[in-house]
Amino acid sequence: MSAKKIQGIPYHLWNPYTPMDKYLAFLGFGPTYLVRGDGLYAYNQRGKRYLLCNSATWNFALGYGREEIIEAACKQMRELAFSNCWGMSHPRAVELAAKLVEITAGHYTHVYLGANGTEAVEAALKLARQYHRQSLEPADRGRFKIISLHHSYHGYSYGAVSAAGREDYNEKYGPMLPGYLQIEPPYCYRCPYQKEGYPDCGLECALSLEKTIEREGAETVAAFIMEPVMGEYGVIDPPEEYYRKVGEICRRYGLLFIVDEVTTGFGRAGKLFASQDWDPQPDVLCLGKVISGGYFPLSAMLATEAVFQRFLGKDRYLMHGSTNSGHPVSAAAGLAAIDIILREKLSENAAQVGAYLKAELEKLKATHPLIGDVRGRGLMLAVELVKDRQTKQPLTEDEAFNFILDIVDRGFLISLGSPVLFPPLTINQEIADQIVRAFDQSLHTGILPELSRKTRMVKEFALSKLK
Ligand code: PMP
Repeated sequence: MSAKKIQGIPYHLWNPYTPMDKYLAFLGFGPTYLVRGDGLYAYNQRGKRYLLCNSATWNFALGYGREEIIEAACKQMRELAFSNCWGMSHPRAVELAAKLVEITAGHYTHVYLGANGTEAVEAALKLARQYHRQSLEPADRGRFKIISLHHSYHGYSYGAVSAAGREDYNEKYGPMLPGYLQIEPPYCYRCPYQKEGYPDCGLECALSLEKTIEREGAETVAAFIMEPVMGEYGVIDPPEEYYRKVGEICRRYGLLFIVDEVTTGFGRAGKLFASQDWDPQPDVLCLGKVISGGYFPLSAMLATEAVFQRFLGKDRYLMHGSTNSGHPVSAAAGLAAIDIILREKLSENAAQVGAYLKAELEKLKATHPLIGDVRGRGLMLAVELVKDRQTKQPLTEDEAFNFILDIVDRGFLISLGSPVLFPPLTINQEIADQIVRAFDQSLHTGILPELSRKTRMVKEFALSKLK
C-alpha cells in the first residue's frame, strides 16, 4: 500500500492512541500537523494559528520560545551531553534532586529521576512491593497488592495500566498483572454509590478503601496510589476531606500512600503541588509533565527518609532504572523550567485565572442545557456535556467529537475525547475569555441536533478521502 504524503514525505508514522484511518483521512487538511510554535500558539503547515488549550499533552505549560530553558539545554549538551545515574551522578541531577526536596518543604528526602511520568509511577509501584519485602517485620513481607482508583490514569506500562483498572485496556491486552485492585473514584457528579452529594454521603468512596483492605487482609496490601484530581477520567476533583480520610486509612493499615502528581504538579491544580497541605502526607510523590515545561522528557519520584532507609544495606537497593534515568539535558531543562514556574508565580496565576475561567464556564450553564457539570481547580477544568440534565445522559462519541472539532476549527487546540481544559499556566483573563467564547459558540453550532455546516464539510472531506 502506498503511503499518504504530507508536505511531500510519505507518512509512515504510527501515532499513539490515534485511530489511524480517521487521522490519515484528515492529513493535510485537519489541524493536527503542527510545524511551528510561538508563545502560547502553534501553527499548522498552512499558517493557521491554534491556542494550546491543552498545553499539548498537558505538559507544555510555559509556551514556546523560553530562551532560559533552550539555553540551559544547549549549554548542557555542549558541557556533558550524556551521563546517567546508574552508580554515578552529575551536577544537574544532584541540583535537580536538591531543588525538588527544597520545594516539597523537605518532606521527601530522596529523588529518583526518570524520563516520563510512567517511569516515575512504575518506580513507585515496584518500590512499594520491594519496601515491604525488605521489612524487618516478617508479617509485612507478604504485602504485594496495590489499590488504586477505578478509571485512573498512571501511564502506559503494565504496572500503570493494571492500576488503571480500565475495562478497555483489559479487553485489548489483558490479563492485567495480578495483585491490582480498584475502588470506585470520588466522582460526585455521577456518584458510584448513588449518594445525593457531599457531605451527606459520608464519603463512602473513601471508606471503601478501608473495606477493601479489610476484605483482602491488610497483611497482603502494599500501597494505595491516587491522582489528587483524576485527569484522564474527566477532572474528578474530590472534597479536601477525602485526602485526609484515605491518608489516615493508609497509615492505620500500614500501606504506603503514593500520590501521582504527574499532572497536578507544578501549579496545574492551583498550588505548586496539590498534596502539599495534606495531612497525613503521602510517602511517595510522582512528578512529570510540567516539570521541564515540556521541553525535555523528565520525571521524578520522591520518597521520604523512612522509605529510603529501607533500601540501604546489602542487596536492598531500588531495583529500577532505565538508560535515560537522570538524563543531564532533561535535568538542565527541568531546573530552568522550575525557576520560571517559581519566579513567575505560575501556581498563583493558575489558581486565579483558573477560578475566573471556571466561573465564566459556569455562567454558560444558564444558556446551554447541554452543560451538565463544570468542575476542576486551577487550570485543570472539565465541562461535562449531557443530552439531558435530568437524566445526565452523556453525548454519543460522535457528538462529542463534532463539538471538539468545532472548537478546534475555531483555533483552540483541545484533544479529541471529552472537553477538558489544561491551558498553559501563563494564560490571563483575556485568553480565558476567548476560550469561554469558543465554548459558547461551539455549544450553539457544534453538536445537536445538526452538525454545523463547517464541521459537516470537514467530515465529508475526511470520509471522501477514506474511500
Ligand atoms: N500519571 C498521570 C496522572 C498522568 O496524567 C500521566 C499522563 N497523562 C501519567 C502518569 C503518565 O505520564 P507519561 O505520559 O509522561 O508517561
